[in-house]
Amino acid sequence: LDLPIHEAVLANAAEHPDTPALIDGITGRSVSYAELDAGSRRIAAGLAEAGVRKGDVIALHSPNSIAYPAAFYGATRAGATVTTVSSLATAGELASQLRDSRARWIITISLFLPVALAAAEVLAAEGSPIREIFVCDASEGHRSLTDLLASTAPEPAPQLDPATDIAVLPYSSGTTGLPKGVMLTHRNISSNLLQTDTLHTTGVGERILAVLPFFHIYGLHALLNHPLRCGSTVVVLPRFDLEQFLRTIQEHRIEAILAAPPIVLALAKHPLVDQYDLSSVRYLLSAAAPLDAELADACARRLGLPRVLQGYGMTELSPVTHVVPLDDADAPPGTVGRLVASTELRVVSLDDPGKDLGTGESGELLFRGPQVMRGYFARQSETDAVIDPDGWLHTGDVGYVDERGYLFVVDRVKELIKYKGYQVAPAELEALLLTHPEIADAAVIGVTGGDGVERPKAYVVRAPGSGLTEQEVTDFVAGQVAPYKKVREVEFLDVVPKSASGKILRRELRDRAR
Ligand code: ATP
Ligand code: MG
Repeated sequence: LDLPIHEAVLANAAEHPDTPALIDGITGRSVSYAELDAGSRRIAAGLAEAGVRKGDVIALHSPNSIAYPAAFYGATRAGATVTTVSSLATAGELASQLRDSRARWIITISLFLPVALAAAEVLAAEGSPIREIFVCDASEGHRSLTDLLASTAPEPAPQLDPATDIAVLPYSSGTTGLPKGVMLTHRNISSNLLQTDTLHTTGVGERILAVLPFFHIYGLHALLNHPLRCGSTVVVLPRFDLEQFLRTIQEHRIEAILAAPPIVLALAKHPLVDQYDLSSVRYLLSAAAPLDAELADACARRLGLPRVLQGYGMTELSPVTHVVPLDDADAPPGTVGRLVASTELRVVSLDDPGKDLGTGESGELLFRGPQVMRGYFARQSETDAVIDPDGWLHTGDVGYVDERGYLFVVDRVKELIKYKGYQVAPAELEALLLTHPEIADAAVIGVTGGDGVERPKAYVVRAPGSGLTEQEVTDFVAGQVAPYKKVREVEFLDVVPKSASGKILRRELRDRAR
């Protein structure tokens, strides 16, 4: 499959023109496939008329909405590269991304206009002004999507080379350092669609809940590109609010949920869950961060599902390399699945990176395939640090493959705590802590004491009404792990800081520990 992203996604739209492509989970407003397809063409014409040319970078700065995909595919149809921006971005963060990605156009919403204008002012002062800000809804003095849709200009026909032209420039989550712009070509994206086509297939009109952000590669793939290619109906929520999320599942008879561990945690543990009819759900997948097998099991039991499925990926991999297919009754608990087609995996030793490891042995995961990014934008040395001359992408993640080919992700290399020569994976301790009935959430980091020794420290959120003590937490862990894995320090928190895509922000915890 070597198509521009919009063609790969909307190839089948004409076969089910009246099926809703998107439904607003709150207002019930919908966009049909015919409207989405025609809308993206008109928006492309409007953008071209405004001056957008092939290769221009457009920043899409919007929360999830039913208008998001028409704006997105409209921009790629005009030949532009879309850099997706977090809806939580401050003016300073937006300005950094605009500067770093060399964006010249912004598509935002009226609510975010003050942030966009402040960022644009910064860029103007630096001598690289934004050419125009479009507003999805409407705001005086700015062209809206409705204005673009009314364009009578011809649809642009940029000559796109799927192998080299950049469709999307998402920024990695910034979990381990500063976010980096990841160049994904049209071929990267359309290959990954083909690789996952048969794995998590959803049917025409099947209802999928989109609560994770579209601006992150996981949401973009699993909640837009993939389901829209399948003709499914995406029910959109702008953010995760448990009550609204549960009500939407009940009201819209949601069949598939693509989620991250914090949502699985809420579904497994929160008392509100029992007050809603969630019987329509037949598919729940978690990705983006480690998910404990026992927690997954508790969630599945509560929803009456055979299991919670997992997938694994990263921005640099467009994003998927592993997924557990819905019909795979054999998948062992805790696995993130099997390798997708046309992709190679190596597991190499952490101590001796040239050495390939065998079945069951943990090491760094390396991938090669058509979904490996072109590189980090304008960061050649960072690119060279992760893609070696033979084309292998070094993920920085630790995992192992069992004898049947199922992958288990242990943790990130950088997060491993080195306690007196032993390695402790925070994810393992977090999973164990979450099995305690009085622990609502937990995160573990390594803290280095005055003696230079790194030790596991747990941040724990107590369940409502619980009087759990630090000593009880320490004893609970000590009773179940090898001595070197014991939690040495405990601190109670009201909430564990997490990113919009569901990752624990360990950087913030480390700052706090300092
Ligand atoms: P940055 O690279 O900027 O530090 P990030 O790595 O969090 O941030 P993403 O590309 O959004 O940015 O996330 C990919 C990472 O998420 C993977 O490298 C892996 O560590 C983690 N991940 C994804 N899926 C899973 C999973 N199923 N289980 C465990 N970890 C996962
Ligand atoms: Mg990363």
